[in-house]
Amino acid sequence: MAVVEVKNLHKHFDEVKAVDGVDLAIQKGELLVILGPSGCGKTTLMRMIAGLEKPTGGAVLIDNRNVTHLPPRARQIAMVFQSYALYPHMTVFNNIAFPLKAQKMPRQEMAQKVEWAASILGIERLLNRRPRQLSGGERQRVALARALVKEPAVMLLDEPLSNLDAKLRASARDELQRFQRKLGITTIFVTHDQIEAMGLGDRIAVMYQGKVRQIGTPQEIYHEPSDTFVATFLGSPPMNLLEADGHLVGFRPENFLPPGVISAGDNLTTFPFNVGRVEYLGSDRLLYGSVGGDPEDHRIVSKLPSTVTASVEVGQTYDFIVQAKDLKFFDKSSGLRTQLKAVS
Ligand code: ATP
Repeated sequence: MAVVEVKNLHKHFDEVKAVDGVDLAIQKGELLVILGPSGCGKTTLMRMIAGLEKPTGGAVLIDNRNVTHLPPRARQIAMVFQSYALYPHMTVFNNIAFPLKAQKMPRQEMAQKVEWAASILGIERLLNRRPRQLSGGERQRVALARALVKEPAVMLLDEPLSNLDAKLRASARDELQRFQRKLGITTIFVTHDQIEAMGLGDRIAVMYQGKVRQIGTPQEIYHEPSDTFVATFLGSPPMNLLEADGHLVGFRPENFLPPGVISAGDNLTTFPFNVGRVEYLGSDRLLYGSVGGDPEDHRIVSKLPSTVTASVEVGQTYDFIVQAKDLKFFDKSSGLRTQLKAVS
């Protein structure tokens, strides 16, 4: 059963369609990531689910109850934002207890709840400190604990890890996923970071210009993109796109390889790859070039793992191959995926 349902949701700010007809159904215990570039409408969508923004049209259902016109406190939702918004003059204990005080919970019960949330997040020893005495990662855990004590039906997290440095982000992601799984809280997580989305999400909804372009597991989104936006938003470097026979043909840099790396078979397509530039990245080698013969065009990329040691010279043309299963076809004008199987 879907815990959160969003039906044909719209939010227009004058002529800006920040959210333009979004449908989503988030299952119990699921961690859904909303991924998209800056300005695509992620925060506006979350704010409407939380009840902080009034929709222009459509509906929000939580546990089958239409909450579209109910205030945030009637929705059983907890939200953690990028800024955490901890109260600087309060101790960690009081920050976490804050939502319970607002509910006028008895003191002893409140202390138990705070300790429970603090132990889940491993911050028991920090309860007497103030936010300025904490690291970024610890502050993030306090903000999560404060969300948790409300025992929400749904947790909304809007870029909660973006203030952390790269190393801390990876461990915070791991912790977040573990505690979300342990408690089974239905969670919606907003990010513009594809690595975060791929690593965390049970499913990912890719948003662009107010619309959900695709929703699926990380594998589906990466390997079976439904349009050229999704194909090129995920992946680093992104999917190569070539024009051929009035269509666009897409293949990922890691699937565009010298012969011999892929075991020989019938289902191989060969492209003459003119190499214009080589980047060594330690674990990978990136080759930039063209397959159209223009030596100035470096838009096609091959990503070779360091285990592939074949020598590659700038200025030379090599026959590179792609397996048929790794070729994706898109309509040239709409950008939508088509089922065309052959390329000549
Ligand atoms: P980011 O990743 O940069 O936070 P986002 O995907 O969360 O972006 P939103 O903040 O939802 O995007 O904004 C979506 C669009 O709506 C943007 O074009 C933004 O300028 C516009 N917008 C958001 N809030 C308002 C507002 N209160 N008034 C007018 N326009 C707004």
